[in-house]
Amino acid sequence: MKIHYLDNNATTRMDDEVLKAMMPYMTDNYANASGVYSFGQDARKAVEDARAVTAKFFNADDPREIIFTSGGTESDNIAIRGAALANAAKGKHIITSAIEHHAVLNVCKALEKEGYEVTYLPVDKYGVVNPDDVKKAIRPDTVLISIMAANNETGSIQPVAEIGAIAREQKIIFHTDAVQAAGKYPIDVKAMNADLVSISAHKFYGPKGVGALYIRKGVKVSAIMQGGHHENRKRPGTENVPGIVGLAKACSVAMDSFKNPKAHEKVKMLRDKLQAGIFEKIPEVILNGHPENRTENTLNVSVKFIEGEGMLIQMDFEGICASSGSACTSGSLDPSHVLLAMGLDHGTAHGSIRFSLSKYTTQEDIDAVLKALPPAVEKLRNMSPFWKNRVTA
Ligand SMILES: *Cc1c(COP(=O)(O)O)cnc(C)c1O
Repeated sequence: MKIHYLDNNATTRMDDEVLKAMMPYMTDNYANASGVYSFGQDARKAVEDARAVTAKFFNADDPREIIFTSGGTESDNIAIRGAALANAAKGKHIITSAIEHHAVLNVCKALEKEGYEVTYLPVDKYGVVNPDDVKKAIRPDTVLISIMAANNETGSIQPVAEIGAIAREQKIIFHTDAVQAAGKYPIDVKAMNADLVSISAHKFYGPKGVGALYIRKGVKVSAIMQGGHHENRKRPGTENVPGIVGLAKACSVAMDSFKNPKAHEKVKMLRDKLQAGIFEKIPEVILNGHPENRTENTLNVSVKFIEGEGMLIQMDFEGICASSGSACTSGSLDPSHVLLAMGLDHGTAHGSIRFSLSKYTTQEDIDAVLKALPPAVEKLRNMSPFWKNRVTA
């Protein structure tokens, strides 16, 4: 059966160029980048060239401001725990938001058990943090503000430049999880006034298991794992040379795509077609996320009176891959923390389904959803007591 993959916020297909760049470092040049012999120096050069490209991707001043990690989760952990530990003498208060990825939220929860205090800011009905709330939450002992650039579930883009400016003025470290922004629009650590920025290669056509963290010069971050002196003593462990080369290639593919934004426009056009088609064919649907200011590829809707899980199973019969809530909470029956924070009731949050497109998405994929979803919804609604008993205005 043909697969219609519409779960690109969970992971993406690698770009062929990325795979091509990585191959030599998995076969011919397998050296440890710390080797003193010239074979190892070739691997070292590949890592340092990748660091320069990644620095450019962030618009960073200096490649030494980039460390490579095992992915978005590790970048978030090093940023938050590492900054909290290194700056604990100043205070133990952290500001974040209720809609962060679990790679941020659960680090904050763990730090709360270790004597830190965390403020989880609310969001508006579009899932957007208000910079004024950030300002009001600041205390003399606030050491870190962590607000994501774009949300993985709704695509809503956060006002990080404004929040970063507030943090900079108050001399508080500002971290942003830019995992969902990377590859979709340019990331500029200067424009964002950011001190720490996380990205993950597999969310923008790179390999799984590799990410990067931008650490602005002068910002103190402790290592959270103990080992060798790799990655500026911030992340021990033999460098994942092919992964790092792949991440840098994904960065350069993305930078090229921003110069010629046709592919981005196509993604948005297909996403908008999918959105229009769903609203046209299915009654009682609501859009989750900002109507305009959201990532080009993301469409999250709640289909009232039924459950997202049911729709996903029906979609799977047709080879359609989508998600409900966040991939990390599916398998549990808790509704999405992001949708609840936006004020959705449990039922409507449970009725959410997310389609996330990529540059490989075709009109055929969209047509497949628009053909399969309406009858699936009708079937599920006919079995739903909530649908039969609904009160229509
Ligand atoms: C996927 C994701 C992560 C985690 O990245 P991994 O590389 O899978 O560990 C973190 N934050 C956001 C917003 C994400 O979408």
